[in-house]
Amino acid sequence: MRDPNVLLHRLGLSELAHRTRAGQRLWPLRVPEPFIRRMRRGDPADPLLRQVLPLDAELASPVGFGTDPLEERSARTAPGLLQKYRGRALLITTGVCAIHCRYCFRRHFPYAETSASGAWEPALGAVRADPRIRELILSGGDPLSLADSRLADLAAALTHVPHLRTLRIHTRLPVVIPSRVCDSLLVWMERVRQRLVVVLHVNHANELDDPEVHRALFRLRQTGAALLNQSVLLCGVNDSVESLCALSEALLDNGVLPYYLHTLDPVQGAAHFGIDDRRALRLYRDMRERLPGYLVPRLVRELPGKPYKVDLAASDPVVVS
Ligand SMILES: *Cc1c(COP(=O)(O)O)cnc(C)c1O
Ligand code: SF4
Repeated sequence: MRDPNVLLHRLGLSELAHRTRAGQRLWPLRVPEPFIRRMRRGDPADPLLRQVLPLDAELASPVGFGTDPLEERSARTAPGLLQKYRGRALLITTGVCAIHCRYCFRRHFPYAETSASGAWEPALGAVRADPRIRELILSGGDPLSLADSRLADLAAALTHVPHLRTLRIHTRLPVVIPSRVCDSLLVWMERVRQRLVVVLHVNHANELDDPEVHRALFRLRQTGAALLNQSVLLCGVNDSVESLCALSEALLDNGVLPYYLHTLDPVQGAAHFGIDDRRALRLYRDMRERLPGYLVPRLVRELPGKPYKVDLAASDPVVVS
């Protein structure tokens, strides 16, 4: 679905259409049918709708919100390869996503000049040549928007790389379009030589409330891959302790452990999703009071030039004292 008017009409929310035009011009709506089916009709505050609906509010560009908030362009070591953290390299396999998340920190990313977009050989050559790289992260865009034959090429190029122990896939597709977890993808996963880690991206428990998603995650789990989740803390989507706890529980129901809860990256067009640090820390502490440790994701922020994603609670006076 690419037309905000049609989407809103289907949800019985046509009165919101006049608020979407400028946002739509900046970056068009893109949301697949299976995800739409999990939206509540008639609810303008639906947490799934809010993640994808273009809004005129995106025109606001407060100080500090830019187009390359993480200064990723400087971490590039080969076309499509980002090396910011020790032992790990991140490959931008494609710029394509099945869904356009309005808060995405890569919404302004110059994929054409930065992604490997099919010509992976220089990037993979760099991985093969550098024994310090123990983990390769397939990112994007969404790496599972590539055809299975392309994934097979990639795995083949990494077969004889002894220092590479882990292949990590950052993807939203198994949740957004669960039928993407098809037999041939599973066969591919079983053939990959490295350990596999799949990091999903789910922000709200309602995204998991679908038998097809349960089945897709069950099948992913059966490959032996470790399943983790990262979320972004988003105003109007998941900024309550009830919502965050429900998400952690729903993930566990599907055999997925929460990994990171990211604060919003200051990307132009996303300021209306922002939550200040004090509130974010309060939510984090409230989660810790209610959940076992393994269901509390780490609240992190990515800062340019730091050797790891920075834990917000590490500077929290309550935690430090
Ligand atoms: C987030 C990120 C990683 C992975 O970091 P982890 O803390 O291991 O999840 C690696 N490379 C880049 C460029 C990243 O942005
Ligand atoms: S799926 Fe991920 S990379 Fe794609 S738009 Fe959403 S947040 Fe951005």
